[in-house]
Amino acid sequence: MSETPMRARAVVDLAALRANVRALRARAPRAQLMAVVKANAYGHGAVPCARAARQAGAEWIGTATPHEALALRAAGDTGRLMCWLWTPGDPWREALEADIDVSVSGLWALEEVTAAARATGRVARVQLKIDTGLGRNGCQPGDWEKLVAAARDAETAGLVKVTGIWSHFACADEPGHPSIRAQLTVFKDAIAYAEAQGLAPEVRHIANSPATLTLPETHFDLVRTGVAMYGISPSPELGTSEELGIRPVMTLSASLASVKRVPGGHGVSYGHLYTTPGETTLALVPVGYADGIPRSGSGTGPVLVGGKWRTVAGRVAMDQFVVDLGGDSAAPGDEAVLFGPGDRGEPTAEDWARATGTIAYEVVTRISARVPRVYV
Ligand code: PLP
Repeated sequence: MSETPMRARAVVDLAALRANVRALRARAPRAQLMAVVKANAYGHGAVPCARAARQAGAEWIGTATPHEALALRAAGDTGRLMCWLWTPGDPWREALEADIDVSVSGLWALEEVTAAARATGRVARVQLKIDTGLGRNGCQPGDWEKLVAAARDAETAGLVKVTGIWSHFACADEPGHPSIRAQLTVFKDAIAYAEAQGLAPEVRHIANSPATLTLPETHFDLVRTGVAMYGISPSPELGTSEELGIRPVMTLSASLASVKRVPGGHGVSYGHLYTTPGETTLALVPVGYADGIPRSGSGTGPVLVGGKWRTVAGRVAMDQFVVDLGGDSAAPGDEAVLFGPGDRGEPTAEDWARATGTIAYEVVTRISARVPRVYV
């Protein structure tokens, strides 16, 4: 039985997500849009978010793993769908049978996908990935000629259709970073070479959220937007969500589980990192690191209780943490808001990221399955 949202809930505002998709489309009016819903839509729930993104006009849905893409097909998504993080032995056949575009970064992957095409009688829709400088997945430029030649041979044999050529930025969230230009040059050269060899990809793409928002020259045929679709600024350097014209989609809140008066000098939570400075009121917030609250929020994480920002007092434990209300009163069941859009005075995921030394991407993505999602 899934938990009721009484203890805690992540309210996911799908109308905000749809508005964010429309705002991103307006930034890249000539490109198609791929809604990136990997990692359970950055914690927001892949199936409802993919559906909402489609409603707002996303032509493509993107995931990291094939299992994530297959789960969306099983849930009824019928549009263009792509996944990019493959390891040997992954379910290529199932992906081809489900009409999923598959990313290929090297010869081993092309061999596995052509074997799956032979076995299923399907033409594999393949998107070739070039590592233009991120240094992660993708074909090294020095190996590009070989990969293109092998893909062209597989096309001639009727096993493969190269539907895309694509790459990913390293530093698109750092305005003016020299690697952006360098990656674009490698990308354009790789496309020109592949096209000269007879490949005719439908889509060429490299832009993530920061590039979609700030670098129109990177939009090509399609933009892949993740974090901005969830209303989160990719980086403080690019401005706040509000400045970027997007709205945070997730609000995380909990109901106080206990409120009590304690004397001064009272140690709070494991390790007694916090001691009450005088007689005070402590409130127990029943979420902890098992719910995805960063343990690094101990003594730093902001929470709205009774109209004021409080700070986590002492350690975040597995299931709970404490806030010191000082002279204010509260009652069990009162709401504690950890983060949201900010317009009720609550902190944002970006505030939690700053307080805990991480990025807002991680703050939302790590909210665990124990927290019920409530869709509005
Ligand atoms: N494309 C790829 C390959 C990714 O891995 C990601 C996420 O990291 C994205 C696009 C979306 O990036 P962002 O969330 O910055 O829009």
